[in-house]
Amino acid sequence: MLSELHVLQETFGFESFIGKQHEIIKHVIDGGSAMVLMPTGGGKSLCYQIPALLRHGTAIVISPLIALMQDQVYALKGLGIRAAFLNSSQCFEQARQIANSFVKGELDLLYVAPERLLTNRSMELLERGRISLFAIDEAHCVSQWGHDFRPEYLGLSVLYKRWPNVPRIALTATATTATRKEIAERLGLIDAPHFVSSFDRPNIYYQITEKNNVRQQLLHFIKTQHNGHSGIVYCLSRHRSEQIAAFLVSNGIRALPYHAGLDGVTRRNHQQMFLKENNIVMVATIAFGMGVNKPDVRFVAHIDMPKSIEGYYQETGRAGRDGKPATAWLAYGLNDALQRMRMIHNTPASREVRMHMIQHLTAMLALCESRYCIRQHLLQYFGESSSSCKYCNTCDNPPASWNGTTAAQKVLSAVYRLWNERGQRFGANHIIDILRGKATSRVIQYGHASLSVFGVGADMSERAWRSVLRQLLANNLINVDEEGHNTLVLNADSVAILKGQKELTLRSQDY
Ligand code: ADP
Repeated sequence: MLSELHVLQETFGFESFIGKQHEIIKHVIDGGSAMVLMPTGGGKSLCYQIPALLRHGTAIVISPLIALMQDQVYALKGLGIRAAFLNSSQCFEQARQIANSFVKGELDLLYVAPERLLTNRSMELLERGRISLFAIDEAHCVSQWGHDFRPEYLGLSVLYKRWPNVPRIALTATATTATRKEIAERLGLIDAPHFVSSFDRPNIYYQITEKNNVRQQLLHFIKTQHNGHSGIVYCLSRHRSEQIAAFLVSNGIRALPYHAGLDGVTRRNHQQMFLKENNIVMVATIAFGMGVNKPDVRFVAHIDMPKSIEGYYQETGRAGRDGKPATAWLAYGLNDALQRMRMIHNTPASREVRMHMIQHLTAMLALCESRYCIRQHLLQYFGESSSSCKYCNTCDNPPASWNGTTAAQKVLSAVYRLWNERGQRFGANHIIDILRGKATSRVIQYGHASLSVFGVGADMSERAWRSVLRQLLANNLINVDEEGHNTLVLNADSVAILKGQKELTLRSQDY
């Protein structure tokens, strides 16, 4: 029988295994199930592709994205491997031929989208062939409280019930301890070993900065740190991706937009240019990235705050896959956080789901507001301990801290006083105006200049107050109301601060 090293070298053309690949591959070849956690670019695919070639039968690979599965299958075919996919892009006849090949044992790997797999027809088809293993890619999609839940993944628990003796390998690049536990329960992997690689990407420099004029900040970042390099700029909306790309082009940078609203041909062309050339900046929504395997992306910039640390880490992980220095740059602000929170409360999801989304966002905001090493904070989030990295902007320039208890009390008592006025909505800007004693027309209209808190914060700049508000949100000491407005509301923890039962240390805004 061929050895796994032989297949690695002769079929895939790689010299040696990286990280825990070998350990995992041997385990799966021997019929073991496994949970595999590796950062993006860690080499997860080989962990099931090599066992697929060495075990008897066909490996069924469950993958959520059609484009991604097609890319993988074409790449495998290019290596002479018998791979195919079944998804909604195919006509009946194509699907029938692939089904026949599977039954005849002519396929090493068959990629299937989860919703397709769970149909009666597919289940019957699988019963007719011989399955070597199930690989569940992007396994965190099974976690209801994770950042990327896909309901169709829940049905995958059928696999271990129906085929208890076929090894299952669940793979993900983003799983906290809680998500990992949920994956193990749902996919029947409680007793299976977890192969957890370090999530650290030591060649990526993390830089998180406060937003003021984000276009100019982005331009300055690219011009001074990554002029002429390949990079990805992530933003929240399609419209913004077009605008920012045009802005960069007008400043001499080769930028292209990418979002789901562009027609297929344009999208493909832009992606091809980005892959082939080495100085294109792709300005994209999150529609871009999964499966884009370009090793020399020198930076990933976020000009809007991501909605979770998981998403952020996955996106920044696309930088520097070649191991050479790369930068993850993020600009964020109070408005980003408030806008996102409002958007969450306006989604039609249940309250429970919305609260989980708020938790993810709050964790992301807390990362942005971290007083310590960003990398350490990130790794800790994924359950990994580490020391300060000396390769992020909080390590390079450690923020000063100050006793923010009194400032927090001022904000919270202003919120408390405004909340008493039923039916009227007041957001963060209005609160800052009141604290700073600014008699705006709104302040006058509502008689807020006569409040006892009016002007009590005149000694601090608007920027400083915005920083205090962000940190109160990040520490869950204040919330945005659940009715989908920007109104700030108190919670039980705010009361402890107001009553002076708790002290609060804040990061200096001059940082
Ligand atoms: P992931 O799915 O974890 O993001 P991939 O499986 O796509 O990662 O692998 C990332 C890159 O690393 C790919 O370009 C792949 O060809 C390469 N790679 C994987 N394993 C090895 C290895 N043992 N030696 C060299 N390159 C490898």
